[in-house]
Amino acid sequence: MSLFSKKQPILGPSPVEGKSVVLADLDGVVYAGPGAIDYAVESLNSVAEHTRVGYITNNASRTAASVAFHLRELGLDCAEEDVVTSPQAAMHLLAEVVEPGSTILVVGGEGLTYELEKNGYTVTFSAEDNPAAVIQGFSPELGWKHLAEAAFALNARPSADAFGGTVTDAQGEGIPWIATNMDWTIPVARGVAPGNGTLVSAVHTAVGRLPQVAGKPELPIFEEAARRFGTAEAPETALFIGDRLDTDVMGGNRAGMETVLVLTGIDQPKQLLAAPAGSRPTYILGDLRELQLPYPTPVTNKDGSVTVRGATVRKEGMDLVIVSRGEDKLDLLRAACQVIWDSGLAIFGFSVPEELYC
Ligand SMILES: [Mg+2]
Repeated sequence: MSLFSKKQPILGPSPVEGKSVVLADLDGVVYAGPGAIDYAVESLNSVAEHTRVGYITNNASRTAASVAFHLRELGLDCAEEDVVTSPQAAMHLLAEVVEPGSTILVVGGEGLTYELEKNGYTVTFSAEDNPAAVIQGFSPELGWKHLAEAAFALNARPSADAFGGTVTDAQGEGIPWIATNMDWTIPVARGVAPGNGTLVSAVHTAVGRLPQVAGKPELPIFEEAARRFGTAEAPETALFIGDRLDTDVMGGNRAGMETVLVLTGIDQPKQLLAAPAGSRPTYILGDLRELQLPYPTPVTNKDGSVTVRGATVRKEGMDLVIVSRGEDKLDLLRAACQVIWDSGLAIFGFSVPEELYC
């Protein structure tokens, strides 16, 4: 007798079916270094024929227009308004605490200064200009002097003048500090380098407090996208595609979206099997061609094993056992993830066959 009950579909709808917008992270999803990732451009253009496609990036060094230009160079059909950046999300946070027209100390590059000026703020790079807030995002030109100015501004007691003559208790803790994102590392052509989180951490050490954060996995950047693409009332109609569990998938899940982990970037089967609740994607894809293919639904059998098409995995004590391999290695990974995730147990307790990690 077949393992599958006729009532249980083996193939479900494709990840993009029924979605009102498909949002993609960039690095590790669309491109790696200077070049496009295999199948990403043609797959996203094909999705864009019937569903709105947007792009979300934590990288604060470039403007949305410059990101859109790069994506068009790679062959994507992309306009400036299709790109949501962490500086744009940071502007929304800033507007909640500081009036436009105020002077803002920038630790960062063009991506930040452009958005600040567009939103009516005055940009400074010196704490001596008595800034009303500090905003910090990555730029490859940043150095110690910029971080020191941020520390001087954040450590200074605010003057009454900066707040229209009154200083409340909250303001007494210092002026607002907003970071575009907290990515510890940034991939560049020559390798992995310190990212904005690392630079924020240097300032944090000097000032003894932490900034508000706009980028993934925090919600402001997803809220910015929801406002832009009209999904605030129905977040589950948005699909977020990322290559990192701790930023893309965690953030998308927090925002109530369905999420894809695509295995073309940072996180690989080992990280997926170990993913904590909250960082588990709705879909696991090998590459973006699968966005429009029916997705194989994991089926839990009566004996507790999980089958994904021809692949079945079972938990025996603390051993993960491959019952059948099926034809697609990804199905085996999907089944193994489901067994581990459903067990409620931590990955380090399990004995996992090495082939699942490849
Ligand atoms: Mg990425």
